[in-house]
Amino acid sequence: ILSESELVAFDHTAAGHDGISSNASGSLIIKPCTQAEIDFYESAKDHPLFQAHMPTFLGSLSQHDDQDAVAPLLESSQDGVVAPPHVDGITAQGAVTGTTPGLMRRVSWKPSGGKKIATGLAIVLENVVSGFKHPNVLDVKLGVRLWDDDAPLAKRRKLDEVTAKTTSGSLGFRLAGMKMWAGAGAGAEDAEVEVPPTEKEYVEVKNGYRSYNKYYGQSFSADSVVDAFTTYFGGIIQGKENGDAATKRVRFKRQRAEFLIRRFIRELESIQYVLENEESRMYSASVLMVYEGDPEALEISIAGEEEEDGRDGVDGGEGMLQDDDEDEEDDEEDTRPPKVHELRLIDFAHARWTPGEGPDQNAIKGIQSLLAILRDLVAKAE
Ligand code: ADP
Ligand code: MN
Repeated sequence: ILSESELVAFDHTAAGHDGISSNASGSLIIKPCTQAEIDFYESAKDHPLFQAHMPTFLGSLSQHDDQDAVAPLLESSQDGVVAPPHVDGITAQGAVTGTTPGLMRRVSWKPSGGKKIATGLAIVLENVVSGFKHPNVLDVKLGVRLWDDDAPLAKRRKLDEVTAKTTSGSLGFRLAGMKMWAGAGAGAEDAEVEVPPTEKEYVEVKNGYRSYNKYYGQSFSADSVVDAFTTYFGGIIQGKENGDAATKRVRFKRQRAEFLIRRFIRELESIQYVLENEESRMYSASVLMVYEGDPEALEISIAGEEEEDGRDGVDGGEGMLQDDDEDEEDDEEDTRPPKVHELRLIDFAHARWTPGEGPDQNAIKGIQSLLAILRDLVAKAE
């Protein structure tokens, strides 16, 4: 029981601050956050179309001074639904009390550093990268303007400077960070993972993944940023190899990249539509893109989806928080195929609903630029 309830450091971040934890099964994350982010998630229920593009919100936690507080256990079922906690006396350091939409009351939370911990607040969210074997994660920060109304002048200047010298200024988005499965075979060491010379200064290899830091994303211009997406979707795909088998493999890789890009385009088109029909503002929010980075697992996922479609007729896009009793007892959940892709809006530390102020053109510009680049890539792949 304990191992199920313990929190572990969450390592599948593409960018941002340290200090995110996840539960043992990995279905949810706990992230230090601002009150504004909690407010935004709580009020998103009144904006269901927008909410559909956010991670599922499970609750918020505030740090408790009482060191001896009893923290009931946090447990979750496999598909990310939080089960009622097992109450079992555990003294937790920095115990946390939270209010959640019903199911979870209090959980133990071991702060693991990170700047935003100073708020003493944390948010419990669906872990968007769970359900992947080896997720390839990309964090795309939206907006030309990245600071909120209440930002001090020094912060505005600093962020405006970064905007001016990056694609944030020209395109309204920039890559904040990226983490890619390096596809190492069994037993391969990190040291054996190859990093192209041009990427060396930005990349750290760890546990079989290449992590690209924020300076990688800052190094692109409006014209060259397509290269970053080419890298994200599996490298420069040209039919240079010799022989029939090689040509076939190259063609297959290209088709898979195209398949994935089309999925992300579909999600982004939906987000664009939603943003155009909402009155909201978000500064320094991100689009989080994820796809299965293990080629074999990706094929299994795609085959699994097709099978699922065949069984259910039209894909129902099953909601993850329907009825938990049903979810827990449903054996089928255990055999659910791993995911192919995910795309969500995240990071609402500076986000709010702004009735009467019109759509968020600052964020829309980034989405449109992102769409244009992905559409170009698809056209090239054809
Ligand atoms: P900040 O940038 O303020 O530190 P973010 O909300 O952007 O906080 O989170 C930092 C990183 O954590 C993101 O780049 C992303 O990789 C990861 N992350 C955030 N929320 C989720 C989530 N719900 N599921 C999976 N990964 C997440
Ligand atoms: Mn962020």
